Amino acid sequence: KGILYIVATPIGNLSDISLRALEVLKAVDVIAAEDTRNSKVLLNHYSINTAMTAYHEHNENNKRQLLLEKLSAGESIALISDAGTPLINDPGYSLVEGVKQAGFEVVPVPGACALIAALSASGLATDRFSFEGFLPRTSAARKAIFEIYKGRQGTLVFYESSHRIIKCMDDIFATYDPTHKISIARELTKTYETIATGSVADIYQLLQADSNMQRGEFVVLIEGVNKKQHKKDELSDEDVKTLETLLQ
Ligand code: SAM
Repeated sequence: KGILYIVATPIGNLSDISLRALEVLKAVDVIAAEDTRNSKVLLNHYSINTAMTAYHEHNENNKRQLLLEKLSAGESIALISDAGTPLINDPGYSLVEGVKQAGFEVVPVPGACALIAALSASGLATDRFSFEGFLPRTSAARKAIFEIYKGRQGTLVFYESSHRIIKCMDDIFATYDPTHKISIARELTKTYETIATGSVADIYQLLQADSNMQRGEFVVLIEGVNKKQHKKDELSDEDVKTLETLLQ
């Protein structure tokens, strides 16, 4: 029976691919890639000659059927996207849904993902976070989202493109206190990788002062309400001691 593998590929640095991902990409009958020309660079780099077929948001419906037929015929397929983990703001959801519904196995081959890489090195809380993908295009809608998250626990994480990063920072500056902590992770794993964490005012200034800093791909992270801090402020010293003893 055919298997669909969901294979993560690098988000910049070509070395960020697992040994298992390379094995699977070599072994499958076909690789369904978001952009075959783009993926050719990666596959050539690792001398992988597996046949490729395009699978993207414009041909999803037709391609899904064709890929299901391949699975029925016993073929195995690897789905990859242009960068990182497929389905994470990339095509694949309807394929995975359809393939599972049809009774075939879907196997993840985990690896790079920009949101996790950014979060892990941001210095912001990682125990809880919310991922919003790409924020809406209008300033009003973005501000509405920030207003909602302002009162919530956990770090807010989202993707942003270079042509909207300044507009997005304008909205953050308009919504949050200038001392509120945020982080921007730019060009992760690439030559100009920048991970800057600081106050809203400092990060805004950093981006405005240098147009080079506005280039590339971004992950933006905004600190949420800190529950522990919140609770600690409300409790007496004695209460905190009791709690700490209980938690030991
Ligand atoms: N599937 C990908 C993943 O696993 O991260 C995300 C794909 S989404 C279409 C592309 C967005 O992810 C970019 O606009 C940017 O916000 C973020 N991104 C991808 N690679 C990045 C990198 N190297 N550094 C920072 N952000 C990146």
